[in-house]
Amino acid sequence: MADTGRNLRNVREHNRALLLTHILRAGGLSRVELAERTGLTQQAVSKIVPELLDAGLLDEQRQPSTGVGKPRTQLTVRAGARHALGARLDRDEYRVLRTNLIGEVEETAGGPLPAGFTPEQAVEAIGATALELADGFDVLGLGLGAVGPLDHLAGLVRDATNMPGWHEVPLRDLLEKRTGLPVTLDKNTNSAAFARLWPHGDPTATAVVLVGTGIGVGLLIDGRLYRGPRTNAGEFGHTTIAYDGPVCACGRRGCVEIMAKQAPDTRTAAGFLGIGLADLVQVLDLERIVLAGRAVRDEPGTYRDAVSERLEELLPLPHWQRIEVVEDAGGEELVTRGAAAEVLASYYANPA
Ligand SMILES: [Zn+2]
Repeated sequence: MADTGRNLRNVREHNRALLLTHILRAGGLSRVELAERTGLTQQAVSKIVPELLDAGLLDEQRQPSTGVGKPRTQLTVRAGARHALGARLDRDEYRVLRTNLIGEVEETAGGPLPAGFTPEQAVEAIGATALELADGFDVLGLGLGAVGPLDHLAGLVRDATNMPGWHEVPLRDLLEKRTGLPVTLDKNTNSAAFARLWPHGDPTATAVVLVGTGIGVGLLIDGRLYRGPRTNAGEFGHTTIAYDGPVCACGRRGCVEIMAKQAPDTRTAAGFLGIGLADLVQVLDLERIVLAGRAVRDEPGTYRDAVSERLEELLPLPHWQRIEVVEDAGGEELVTRGAAAEVLASYYANPA
């Protein structure tokens, strides 16, 4: 993207976003600390803070004096000022949750979806549940992490594997129509990765591996979520590890996903995952692998051990290239929390 100029209005909005984000990440800051951390002058801070207070986005609390000098006033984000919804669409179920403005989960709902469900059925289930959870709250929008491939920018589900009848579905627009809320559509793997990134950020090169009804990864590279130009990075489940292996749902042979699916036991399945991950580590210089998703939650130790063993076997790593293999501890709301966080992050980038 070409660089563009910044006029004064943009600078003001930028600084407002900067202050609010710093307050969120620190869990509370004084005006003096805000100036220190942002590099803005105290005058600039004193101008912007009242705008955020007027918008009802901050709470102000006088701290007890700890010695000499004026007692400081602590600014915190007013958690109940706004809310976000996060949803997950899987091949057999859906979940929706509501968070507050600091990303804390307030309420969750969801249920199974019938075999071979249509886009209309999914929109009705997610949309109706979202409206129930939003009722009575100032909700910024709905983030949805769905199975891909999909077009994040256009809000289209392409040809979701193992979901017959799902072809070029304008899921974002359909959900916006049903709920009246702004909707963000992303791959479930990206939402999962974003949950680990927001709000504190993480510079570690990480693959978040989601193992459920399919297998995919969300990539955190250089401190950002990497989606790729067509927003389909991370189709890891459909990389080939056995050239003349069994035919996969995607039409190719010997993909990580079909090899894992047809494995006789969990340990072998996780081992296939490790074979694919060894290549991913080589290509992207990954520092951390986070194992997540339904299958991992059922047997976390088996996954961690089998993946680690494969990596050790396939990558003759020197001491400076160690790879951390961990399970995500966030439970079954990882994707939904991340989807809501995507909504929150875009609000923090331009708080109004
Ligand atoms: Zn495949």
